[in-house]
Amino acid sequence: MPEFPEVPMNLVKPKEPVIGKVVGSETCLKGGRKSAGFVRHVAIDVSGTPLEGQLYPGQSFGIVPPGEDENGKPHKVRLYSLASPSWGEDGEGKVISTTPKRVIDEFTSQKDGDDESCHELFLGVCSNYICDAKVGDEVQVCGPNGKRFLLPVDRNAHDYVFMATGTGIAPFRSMCMELFDHPDGPTSSQVHLVMGSPYESDLLYDDLFRGYAEKHDNFHYHTAISRGANKQYVHGLVESQWEDVFNPVLSSERGLLYMCGLIGMQFGVYQLLGERGLSDDYMEIKDELQGVPVSDWDRETMRRYIRPSERMMVEVY
Ligand SMILES: Cc1cc2nc3c(=O)[nH]c(=O)nc-3n(C[C@H](O)[C@H](O)[C@H](O)COP(=O)(O)OP(=O)(O)OC[C@H]3O[C@@H](n4cnc5c(N)ncnc54)[C@H](O)[C@@H]3O)c2cc1C
Repeated sequence: MPEFPEVPMNLVKPKEPVIGKVVGSETCLKGGRKSAGFVRHVAIDVSGTPLEGQLYPGQSFGIVPPGEDENGKPHKVRLYSLASPSWGEDGEGKVISTTPKRVIDEFTSQKDGDDESCHELFLGVCSNYICDAKVGDEVQVCGPNGKRFLLPVDRNAHDYVFMATGTGIAPFRSMCMELFDHPDGPTSSQVHLVMGSPYESDLLYDDLFRGYAEKHDNFHYHTAISRGANKQYVHGLVESQWEDVFNPVLSSERGLLYMCGLIGMQFGVYQLLGERGLSDDYMEIKDELQGVPVSDWDRETMRRYIRPSERMMVEVY
């Protein structure tokens, strides 16, 4: 069974955030845009704060946007996944980074009392704030958060399947850097990264991952494009290459599975693991679902009765 490290948590509370300084902001989309998504790679200098050197791949940190919400209360903290390795963007743990996607849409009613006739432009508060921030701007940060979605203590004792959709790639940038650019040398483990996006142009950090694939025989980069010519989702890609590629890693005792991204992405994977006889390795299935054929599992029953086991890390939002 994997052993995971103890990591620092909540060194800085959202009610008393510290000041970080934006030191970099650039698009991290592959480009040649087909969909109206805007995603940036934002680097924040936290030197001299309790966060310096204290964030680990898989953790997230908080950003507290300035101003007040519609009820006149200070805006609440929003969490963003760490995209940098434990030594930061700068090699010293002073500069952390993340991958914010602008929430931009037409207003649609979300709850009772919302104006059904309103279709004004809707802009998410914090994602647009942090994407708008310029180099030199100060931002309020807190954290770290998360102690379950981590790399194991002995990184070479396991092989990895990372599955991401959209900004769910952020922790895998962090983890791949940790595994392949580590001061002790690159990992000897097999690492498979599966990235799902609507169009090729929505792939994030694509050059970085292609670079790893060229440089390291044990890094494998798979892309699932859901609106391209061969419509494919993450779990469909894994299913289509099950025997040759994914089964050898996941059915071995060394295998660990990580999923991060859009809420809902886990269900197709749960079913696939169930169909391929790997339920016991990766999931705890409560009594209510024991004995029910996998083909009868639906989202609601999976949400209620399946918990990832120690070998499966799931972060969806
Ligand atoms: C552990 C974790 C890690 C995360 N990591 C990342 C990351 O790396 N990158 C990233 O981009 N995000 C990440 N998120 C999500 C992030 O925390 C924010 O939720 C996201 O950026 C939106 O925040 P916002 O302030 O821009 O939007 P908000 O102002 O909070 O607006 C979003 C809310 O508005 C409502 N809404 C949505 N669409 C509409 C609409 N069309 N009309 C009316 N109301 C609407 C919904 O209720 C929604 O919850 C992460 C979340 C978690 C929990």
